[in-house]
Amino acid sequence: MTERLYYQNSFLYDFVAALMETRTLADGRTALVLDRTAFYPTSGGQTFDTGWIELEPLEGERGQFLPKLRVAEVAECEDGEILHVIESAEGLSDAPTRVRGFIDVDLRRDHMQQHSGQHVLSAAFVELFQMPTVSFHMGEETCTIDLETKSLATEQVRQAELRANQVIWDDRPVKMHLATEEEARAMGVRKIPAADHEKLRLIDIEGFDLCACGGTHVKSTGQIGAILIRKVEKVKQGFRVEFVCGARAVQHARKDYETLADAGSLFSTHVWDVPTQIRKTTDDNKIAAKYAHKLNEEIAGLRAEKILAETPPVDGRKMVALVMADRDAGFVKLLAQKLVAAEQNVVALLGAGAGQPTLVFAQTPGTGLDMGVLMKQAMSALGGRGGGTRDMAQGGAPDTSRLAEVIELAKSACSR
Ligand SMILES: [Zn+2]
Repeated sequence: MTERLYYQNSFLYDFVAALMETRTLADGRTALVLDRTAFYPTSGGQTFDTGWIELEPLEGERGQFLPKLRVAEVAECEDGEILHVIESAEGLSDAPTRVRGFIDVDLRRDHMQQHSGQHVLSAAFVELFQMPTVSFHMGEETCTIDLETKSLATEQVRQAELRANQVIWDDRPVKMHLATEEEARAMGVRKIPAADHEKLRLIDIEGFDLCACGGTHVKSTGQIGAILIRKVEKVKQGFRVEFVCGARAVQHARKDYETLADAGSLFSTHVWDVPTQIRKTTDDNKIAAKYAHKLNEEIAGLRAEKILAETPPVDGRKMVALVMADRDAGFVKLLAQKLVAAEQNVVALLGAGAGQPTLVFAQTPGTGLDMGVLMKQAMSALGGRGGGTRDMAQGGAPDTSRLAEVIELAKSACSR
């Protein structure tokens, strides 16, 4: 079993170890097994470290070039070994047995801030509202905890965030103890996992929280920096709380601010007034849309009157066939309705060129044609889709190029 150096010291960023074994994984990647490691493997909600492993030349081979291997993933094996999956096995030979490991410091610091921050936030929810954390997930962007609770009010979220940040500003020492399960129970540990080791590793935030955990943690709560809760959502067993700590909290707050500032400048308003402005604009848009519809109805009525006055009846029937290149389907449909409602024996075969090219066929009820059938024929000629009833039918065309031609075909079909 690999000796876990990170258990004793989360701030050990480089180390020397012996290369015990090289494994080829099922997916073809190569993994190194060392006798000891400071690389943290994915476990307990915390994601793995990355970094480098350098092979050390043996005595007498000094000065010889040896590869620096990029550690792409670190995983815990069922046999207790830790697998260091390397990006490329090029240049790897069995000869050197000693290695130097280098942890990616920025990533480790980020993981410590997120994970220690999670302990503080989970403990704050217990202290204030007796809401236990049932799971923790550390993502690349944000982290989440799932709380076992039936309800979670916005005010409670604010209070837990404030309490957690107060504990951070206290800069309380964070210590590690080893204890048996009985000892841990007697100490009132917040969360005791199913023990697979003889001793539990306890993370002790002085005077605030005691929790069994194998993760890498800060030395004192001040190193967490800050906790920012971002989102709360209902999940199956309770509520999911999304949060970010430390540098991530600053990055997210900056991005939020820049997004809001962008929105604010679009509305020429202060960022805090953006929601008010959006509400006002949405209301204005609704009023404008209502007004536009009313105007369109009026215009369609007037256009219908004019068209009918200029269309002489043929065999007792007025046939209106036209394409309106600058009007959309909504207006053309309105016009068709006005045309067939104004007089008896009117047939309207209309095309709209704006927006989605559309055909609208309509007749005064009782005119004796079938607009549905006519539309099906027009659509099969155009390669579009559409249909409707005897008196009103509509269809969408792939483009405007053949609208007029197809309307003429429909018109001659009507006179047959
Ligand atoms: Zn933990």
